[in-house]
Amino acid sequence: MIDIQKYLDKSPALADVLKLKPTVWLNPNLMPASQAWDEISFSLEDIIDADQRLRRFAPLLMEYFPDTRADGGLIESELREIPEMAGSLSSQSDFQGRLFLKMDSHLPVGGSVKARGGIYEVLHYAEQLAMEHNLLKEEDNYSVLAQPEQRKLFSQYTIQVGSTGNLGLSIGIISSALAFKVIVHMSADAKQWKKDLLRSKGVVVKEYAGDFSAAVAQGRADSLADSGSYFVDDENSVNLFLGYAVAALRIKEQMRQLDILPTNNRPAIFYIPCGVGGAPGGITFGLKKLFGDAVHVFFVEPTHVPGMLLGMATGLHNEISVKDFGLDGKTEADGLAVGRSSGFVGRLMEPLLSGIFTIEDADLFTYLRALDQREQIRIEPSAAAAFAGPVGLFRYESAKRYLAELQLADTHDIIHVVWATGGNLVPAEIMNAYLA
Ligand SMILES: *Cc1c(COP(=O)(O)O)cnc(C)c1O
Repeated sequence: MIDIQKYLDKSPALADVLKLKPTVWLNPNLMPASQAWDEISFSLEDIIDADQRLRRFAPLLMEYFPDTRADGGLIESELREIPEMAGSLSSQSDFQGRLFLKMDSHLPVGGSVKARGGIYEVLHYAEQLAMEHNLLKEEDNYSVLAQPEQRKLFSQYTIQVGSTGNLGLSIGIISSALAFKVIVHMSADAKQWKKDLLRSKGVVVKEYAGDFSAAVAQGRADSLADSGSYFVDDENSVNLFLGYAVAALRIKEQMRQLDILPTNNRPAIFYIPCGVGGAPGGITFGLKKLFGDAVHVFFVEPTHVPGMLLGMATGLHNEISVKDFGLDGKTEADGLAVGRSSGFVGRLMEPLLSGIFTIEDADLFTYLRALDQREQIRIEPSAAAAFAGPVGLFRYESAKRYLAELQLADTHDIIHVVWATGGNLVPAEIMNAYLA
């Protein structure tokens, strides 16, 4: 049994969490970036290595996925200023600053942030397999992997993954394009259309009555029992994490082009929806590595499923689940429906993450509609959660104090970046239902 009272005394935000009241938890273990790196075993070289690998695959991706051709085979999304949405936020709160949207909602191939880490991990595995079998050299043009001999090799192996939806989509789409067999283990929260879309691509979808952790556990066990099977481990995978981290290298270039590179006096504050933690964690690692104290990163979770908040605030990480706190774990934000977060990521985030906001489900749809009306951009409910960040920063007293301690000359200069994590593959009739 977990002694809730002990933690309530330590962290006031947990009282709100218990009452399902939207709140912010500020991370007491945040460190200046220069000190944080002593605690972390990954380096900038690891991110650059991942970026280089993705670039080697660019010719192959252009062949299989015509929508990557505009970016030369890179899976990348636009960083766009959304001033009308900023206006909407300031009319309802004290929000100040410039507002940008990182549109991973529109990433090629997977239509969500999972097209970064998930696809990277499958490519990493494919490269390793092909090299072991002398069917690929690093200096080759990687479109050689579309040849019959290479495809035949891949077709002898199975990729398995546990997913609430979007990771399964990205892994399923890339694996079947490369000719792997692929099995996606899906939790009860996964939307029907995601299962249908995967099955239409020849992916085997197994469904579980239980939650995400149950689907992952079964997938991991099935995969271990098969020597020709590779399991993409959303809770512990280093490759997944590093694939996500590449986003930081890419956004740095975009910020340079928009002339908004962060500085200590004009910081950039990032807001990223969090489920198990891999995607927001990898991105945060990359951002802090590149920009240090000039960036501040907050996660956002649903009030009913604040798994990472509970893990970090109690220090118990994956040893606590929202159920231990009496929460039901139910949300319309299916991508965030993870009651037990990754311990691997939570520990890495201890010195890096500024804090975590929570959002009520009703507000997901308020932001989703406002973004459509103001900017004509459509994203899914999980992604819309991120807007609770810039609003909450100017709403909660503790968040306002965090901001005041930065001693900025002018808070109107702050660069707020809302990370839109998914949306492009949502079928039109479902999107219309969200908007109604
Ligand atoms: C997966 C996902 C997230 C969160 O990523 P995690 O790695 O699970 O933390 C956020 N939004 C969307 C749309 C997602 O699919």
